[in-house]
Amino acid sequence: MSETAWKIPLSDIVMDDDEIDAVRDVLVSKWLSMGPVTEEFEAAFARYLGVKHAFAVSSGTAALHIAHAVLGIGSGDEVITPSLTFVATANSVLYCGAKPVFADIVGTDNLNISWEEIGARVSPRTQAITVVHYGGYPCDMQPILEVARDHDLRVIEDTAHAVGATYKGRKCGTIGDIGCFSFFANKNLSTGEGGMVVTDDDKLAEKIKVLRSHGMTTMTWDRHRGHGYSYDVTDLGYNYRISEVASALGIVQLRRLKQNNARRKRIADRYRKALEGTEGIGCPFGGRIDGESSHHIFPVVLSRDLPRAELQAEMKKRGIQTSIHYPPIHLFTYYRRLFGDTRGSLLKTEFIGEHEMTLPLYPGMTEEGVDCICTAIDEVTPAILAEKKVSR
Ligand SMILES: *Cc1c(COP(=O)(O)O)cnc(C)c1O
Repeated sequence: MSETAWKIPLSDIVMDDDEIDAVRDVLVSKWLSMGPVTEEFEAAFARYLGVKHAFAVSSGTAALHIAHAVLGIGSGDEVITPSLTFVATANSVLYCGAKPVFADIVGTDNLNISWEEIGARVSPRTQAITVVHYGGYPCDMQPILEVARDHDLRVIEDTAHAVGATYKGRKCGTIGDIGCFSFFANKNLSTGEGGMVVTDDDKLAEKIKVLRSHGMTTMTWDRHRGHGYSYDVTDLGYNYRISEVASALGIVQLRRLKQNNARRKRIADRYRKALEGTEGIGCPFGGRIDGESSHHIFPVVLSRDLPRAELQAEMKKRGIQTSIHYPPIHLFTYYRRLFGDTRGSLLKTEFIGEHEMTLPLYPGMTEEGVDCICTAIDEVTPAILAEKKVSR
């Protein structure tokens, strides 16, 4: 089934004439690479988060790579991260020549990295902890920051899911040393491709700015404004610049964020109510969280006797797209080649890797859409469960 044929897709974004006008203005200006619109986007994003510095980059992965690089993480170092995340989280550690050390999640009700598991994996080589606010639900940052303080570690927040989420009243991404955001096409704030690195630390900010653009001391935009003719290269930098087109989209999308996240919350709340008591289906993050989720995705955890592939196939037959978050990183072929077969080392993560299913969630989704999905689940799960019992 092609993606356009889904009756209810996994995700969708809100875009209208405001985005089209903003992009048209950039095209008319003929300044397409990092410039005044990007500066405006960065300023607006920093203001929104209440953070001192924000640097727009070409992707969330670029943001993560820069974050690890500016903390001086390199060969021989270890960084503790979850395995239940998108592969870019751990890849960014490998880009620096360091080793990602995977820590398990809290449990089937809280899919975030566990501070106890982090503490158990600290070694003399550990330099940093890179957390992911899974699905937009904030990690329990206080004990994580305590582990970091006790062992003199830096903390990076992979905030790709959690733009707008809060923990104890603070915006996710501003709690650790550096926050990394993604504006990929399916994220809560979307510019197609793009990302942001944020920090309150002036020294780190200076390094981030330089690494983003080839390690150069002045940018094309500076020289265009008459600020110098030449430049020096002070570090091995990258081309991780964002385009003005993406930044123009970002400014408009940031204005929509609050309303879009509120709509996501309404959909998530309705799912929770509708699925309560449904046999074989658990909704994680049902307990009190110390903050507000950005509801990036809606994950459910299936019981052991409810085969995910069958349920996904039945949903597909009804035009409902589902997904998996995530196949654990430590089980990927490439990671097994690097670190050997570590299956069995992260039992909770591995359980979720086999039994999690992600349901559609996006701001424009209707309540009828939620009801249709939950009705479909109610219809098909008893048959799958019964069939499984008979074949036993
Ligand atoms: C999307 C995502 C990234 C990578 O962002 P890109 O913009 O696609 O490079 C990193 N970590 C997590 C958890 C993500 O969901």
